[in-house]
Amino acid sequence: MTKKILVLPGDGIGQEIMAEAVKVLEKLRANHGLDVEFEWGLVGGAAYDKYGTPLPEETLTRAKAADAILLGAVGAPKYESLDISVRPEKGLLGLRAELKLFSNLRPAIMYPQLVHASTLKPEVVSGLDIMIVRELTGGIYFGKPRGIRTLETGEREGFNTLVYSESEIQRIGRSAFDIAMKRNKRVCSVDKANVLECTELWREVMIEVAKDYPEVKLSHMYVDNAAMQLVRAPKQFDVIVTTNMFGDILSDEASMLTGSIGMLPSASLDAKGKGMYEPIHGSAPDIAGKNIANPLATLLSVAMMLRYSLNAPSLASRIERAVNAVLDQGLRTADIYSEGTKTVSTSEMGDAVTAALAA
Ligand code: NAD
Repeated sequence: MTKKILVLPGDGIGQEIMAEAVKVLEKLRANHGLDVEFEWGLVGGAAYDKYGTPLPEETLTRAKAADAILLGAVGAPKYESLDISVRPEKGLLGLRAELKLFSNLRPAIMYPQLVHASTLKPEVVSGLDIMIVRELTGGIYFGKPRGIRTLETGEREGFNTLVYSESEIQRIGRSAFDIAMKRNKRVCSVDKANVLECTELWREVMIEVAKDYPEVKLSHMYVDNAAMQLVRAPKQFDVIVTTNMFGDILSDEASMLTGSIGMLPSASLDAKGKGMYEPIHGSAPDIAGKNIANPLATLLSVAMMLRYSLNAPSLASRIERAVNAVLDQGLRTADIYSEGTKTVSTSEMGDAVTAALAA
């Protein structure tokens, strides 16, 4: 059956990188049997300009009806003075919450051709391939009560609540174990069980979930140690599963191991595997409209979409091989340029990957 993809370019370089994603998908549709159709929608600043809201009802309705959503990026300086309730970023957060996209997958993969772009030593990062599974719709970012109150003494006090139900922990645990089954069958659950009761429960539930996955080896690590191990010896990890806030911090740390923000894709999935796919970078207003942004994070997000939501793993691998081939050819956008390679534009990079799909 034809699968429906909602394309949401968003703002800034979102337009440019999404054009390359569609180019690649069109080629897979024409030559490799991919059965998809596209719908388009507005989100973020582009939606605010037209409708006065960053997440119009029409976009949400289409997102709910689609099999997968491909998003560029949102945000631009001109929206920064708007009330927080209508800023572009609210569109993105609204989509995640409304679609119950609780499982955020952020792979950090080191392409051998880019080893020297990392700030870490080549021997520490070469061959790196980690998947961070971050809980995205619960924990301290959503827990109640929350706020800032004034005490009887007149002093102000800020407070948030870290809360996870067993079922919330189970479902993110299953997400991580399912992914580990498709990889190297190791899960490291990151918590702070020595200090926080909530993550004591997290650890207990992870051990329960692991019983259904006898082939997967589960280990546990406190978050402070995990932060250290990620820069000391990151290759010890296969899949990391952790809470919303710990995952927020650790996934940014892990992404930088690989050198360029322009290379890293992400997926946010619901309980049925429907997902929203986007590069981890923002709308890069400083380079928007110049045809120099790196589209590879977006193309790798397309690969994740094919693998996790559209059940087309061989086409996902085809894109990943094409990206590798293009890097082997020495083609680089400006952000990943190094001596001896050739600088290409956003659209030239997209053309090169599209051409390499045939191999
Ligand atoms: P950013 O990721 O947009 O840019 C940071 C730096 O990385 C910039 O120098 C930019 O030119 C560069 N960069 C980013 N993507 C690149 C690419 N594909 N190729 C080459 N270089 C790239 O982060 P920022 O500057 O902090 O934020 C800009 C806007 O994006 C803000 O409005 C912010 O709120 C928004 N933002 C959106 C998302 C999202 O949509 N998921 C994520 C982060 C930031």
